[in-house]
Amino acid sequence: MADTAPALDLAPHLGDLVDHHCHGILTGDLDRAAFEGLMNEAVRASPLGTTLFDSALGWAIRRHCAPLLGLEPLAPPEQYLARRSELGGREVSERLMRATGIATFLVDTGIPPDELTSMAELAGLGGGTAYEVVRLERLAEQILVAGSTDFSGELEERLEAARDGGAVGAKSIAAYRVGLDLPATKPSADELRRALVGVDPQRVADRTVSGWLAHTALERGLPLQFHVGYGDSDLDLLACDPLRLTAFLRGTQERGVPVLLLHNWPYHRQAAYLAQVFDHVFMDLGLAVHNTGALSTGILRETLELVPFAKLLFSSDAYGLAELYHLGALLFRRAMSTVLGELVSQGEAASEDAIGVARLVGRENARRVYAL
Ligand SMILES: [Zn+2]
Repeated sequence: MADTAPALDLAPHLGDLVDHHCHGILTGDLDRAAFEGLMNEAVRASPLGTTLFDSALGWAIRRHCAPLLGLEPLAPPEQYLARRSELGGREVSERLMRATGIATFLVDTGIPPDELTSMAELAGLGGGTAYEVVRLERLAEQILVAGSTDFSGELEERLEAARDGGAVGAKSIAAYRVGLDLPATKPSADELRRALVGVDPQRVADRTVSGWLAHTALERGLPLQFHVGYGDSDLDLLACDPLRLTAFLRGTQERGVPVLLLHNWPYHRQAAYLAQVFDHVFMDLGLAVHNTGALSTGILRETLELVPFAKLLFSSDAYGLAELYHLGALLFRRAMSTVLGELVSQGEAASEDAIGVARLVGRENARRVYAL
């Protein structure tokens, strides 16, 4: 099959990637419903629709994952899933993970393991190293469920312990719980105490608590990731525009601890703007890349309009399926080659400039931000 090669192939310069936001996968065997349930942010294929393979992501799986399973590119979904079952989930995961070119995994451990691979297993499959990113709301819930009498003290202690244990950052899912309109300054001990009275210990959804957690992580010097934009139907996408974080960012810039805006679609242009105007703001495109398949080039192009090249990071935000790791890395490399290659061929930049940007985005920015 003919492949349209970009004018400049940056893939050789995009090895040893640092995936600064990702999750565990399932290595067991998956039937069609389970596989489709993990493909994108839908819970399942709609009974009123067709199949989730009828999408840019579905095409990308058939185009780029099928050959790693020994099939022709664009093998039909039925054939793909049959071959996946024949090989077994473990073997398929190994083949796909080995092909990613990811050397370092920063794993959000906030989703309870169940059948998900542990950090160590994931790193083993990918032949790389894994570091933990602590999910703040989960930590808060663990402390509340245990019935602690000193919530703030215990949370600070456990953040310290996580860092001593090798954690390199924290993550806030305020977007999922209260939206991104977080307070510019840290809520006082009194405000926190009052807020905690009303929260559900199993599911913390309070602006004061989320704000307190985020400020506390930064105070402790932990780079702080925020879920932004694209996510499942549990969030209100309108409340996840990163511009809502403006007051928080203005209030935390002086501290100089990195804030990382994750995924961002469809607000990737807003995120790129924030990364430009606030010293401590960084961003990625995460799951927007694999979900938009071959069309992800457009999203990267729009992002590169404004984002300083030292403020963009690679992440797969893969969860559940090894396919999403493989596609996240492959499509990112292709989009970088296509967009930067165009600029080089138009005489707008030198090849060395493009190679330098590839190195920054692929690994060097993450190493600097997280002090890896
Ligand atoms: Zn994620």
